[in-house]
Amino acid sequence: MLQDKFGRVIDYLRIAVTDRCNFKCEYCMPAEGIKYDSQTNLLNYEEIIRLVKLLSKEGINKIRITGGEPFLRKDLMVLLRALSEINLIDKIAITTNGTLTSQYIDELLELGIKSINLSIDSLDKSRFNKITRTNQFENVWNCFEKLLKKDFDLKINCVILDGQNIDDIIPMIKLGEKYNISVRFIEEMPFNGSGTYHNVLKWDYNNIIGHIKNNLKNIVALNNEPGSTSINFRVHGYIGRFGIIPAYTRSFCGSCNRLRLTPNGVIKTCLYDEGIFNVRDLIRAGASEAQLLTAISEAIHNKAENGFEAERGRLSNKQIIESMAIIGG
Ligand code: SF4
Repeated sequence: MLQDKFGRVIDYLRIAVTDRCNFKCEYCMPAEGIKYDSQTNLLNYEEIIRLVKLLSKEGINKIRITGGEPFLRKDLMVLLRALSEINLIDKIAITTNGTLTSQYIDELLELGIKSINLSIDSLDKSRFNKITRTNQFENVWNCFEKLLKKDFDLKINCVILDGQNIDDIIPMIKLGEKYNISVRFIEEMPFNGSGTYHNVLKWDYNNIIGHIKNNLKNIVALNNEPGSTSINFRVHGYIGRFGIIPAYTRSFCGSCNRLRLTPNGVIKTCLYDEGIFNVRDLIRAGASEAQLLTAISEAIHNKAENGFEAERGRLSNKQIIESMAIIGG
């Protein structure tokens, strides 16, 4: 069992399979994009599968595949098929922007991968295209509709941006009148690749729920799953629900069960740390399973109590300058 010094059991591994993305979302990277790592520096599929097999024997039972945009990684379905064959992994979920996903829907179903988080930051085409710096609204919406038709466990991730998509909050929740989906509003985080961030985050949990309660009646609080980062609600009579993820306020760290693996093999025990060590280098230096497990278990044992402690503990980059595309959310 992988456990930290606070007694939190780590059973959920988020794997960012690439830093490449075909979007340039304003809250994730600068307009000019980011410098991608070389392909050879990225973990190859054999290395990822080896790590997942190793960690699944220690209690990791849920995997989330992220990026960048994971479907940009060549032959991603090969990796997903191999991961779906690892017995001790109960659930594989994917976070995607939906631009390349539609063509793989039937194969995902065949592999039993039904949990998809789709990034949709606006229901308004021009706002969507401005925030993502693309013209991909229709493509993403088509993917949304196709996933719904195939009865996927579909969540929408929407990062709340001051002066940009506040007018989307209520219409997004109203999708729940018609669709059995979960819309999650995410506090904007400082992982925008520019090193700049708000002095004070205006649209935090309190302001988002306040805005919602000022505009919608009959809101019912729902029970949240252990380890869930989303604080969930339903409008009475709706089939869908919504939630708010206080990703910057970090009020959910007490039940954190997450470990992260970046595209180039950095182990992060918290989203806000700067990375604990590079497991790729250990693997490529010929480390045994026992040596890999010792290094990962030690990192997990010393996991920061919360995201603020992790951020204070940053040594080389005190200022958060990295893009979310190289972390995987
Ligand atoms: S901020 Fe860090 S400790 Fe808190 S929930 Fe996220 S990963 Fe876990």
